[in-house]
Amino acid sequence: MADMNGKQDGRIDISGDGLASGLRGLWLAFRGAELLLSDARTLPAGDVLGALGAAPVRIQALGDFGGLPCHAAELPADAEPPAGFAFTHLKRLNDHLPERLRQIAARALELLEWDRAHRFCGACGSPTLQHGDTKVRTCTNPDCRREHYPRVSPVVIVAVERGDEILLGRSHHFAPGFYSTLAGFVDAGESAEEALHRELFEEVALRVRNLRYFASQPWPFPHSLMLGFQADYDSGDIVCAPDEIEHADFFHVDALPASLPGPSTIAHWLLRDFCRRHGRAWPAG
Ligand SMILES: [Zn+2]
Repeated sequence: MADMNGKQDGRIDISGDGLASGLRGLWLAFRGAELLLSDARTLPAGDVLGALGAAPVRIQALGDFGGLPCHAAELPADAEPPAGFAFTHLKRLNDHLPERLRQIAARALELLEWDRAHRFCGACGSPTLQHGDTKVRTCTNPDCRREHYPRVSPVVIVAVERGDEILLGRSHHFAPGFYSTLAGFVDAGESAEEALHRELFEEVALRVRNLRYFASQPWPFPHSLMLGFQADYDSGDIVCAPDEIEHADFFHVDALPASLPGPSTIAHWLLRDFCRRHGRAWPAG
């Protein structure tokens, strides 16, 4: 793998020892954010990539998966799937993948993004290099030597509850009728709790209290970490920020919108927990 990772620029020679050494392993091969899977939803082995006729642009080692070495590969934008395989956007696949595969797919996509976005040092502009399989790219300028690790951007996502009601909203870009819990990026120099209070006030002009940490989830589009919280409504009337929220309201546990986030998302987990604590199965009823 060191040889493959050593080729930081240009395409990797799949006819040489590089890919051949990975033939027995499993590959998370992406075209953009689309993952290559067989029609039976299994990962391709290296020989499938070899048959593509389109060499990976970059490769990252991922460790073992199911007892086999596993690698992430970025394929060219014009790569076509071989017979019996298809590319599907990871967001559309997530609800249908086993949890372990979902986790390693998220890691694969984030590492490819890091590899692609940190080929040059952000401090001095010199090229960076990755040594072996370590997940750090180091600036080659001897006067700089800055290390660039995979970036993680925290996002707070919160279920605001008011008795047997939960706050849900929709952005302008959501599919018609789709609602979710509200979320926003943590700003520079801000704690997760401060971000949560600020985002809720900016987006819907509400104050909350009694914050409880709930769970977290990597969201590799491109490198978010969702930090899930529950909170109780405190004060204020909903006023939507027109450029961010199209509509938001408190929904009764028995009258939730029909279109909600899928089971692989932390928003779904927050909603399911809310329903369970009010004696409702998921989906409501
Ligand atoms: Zn530098």
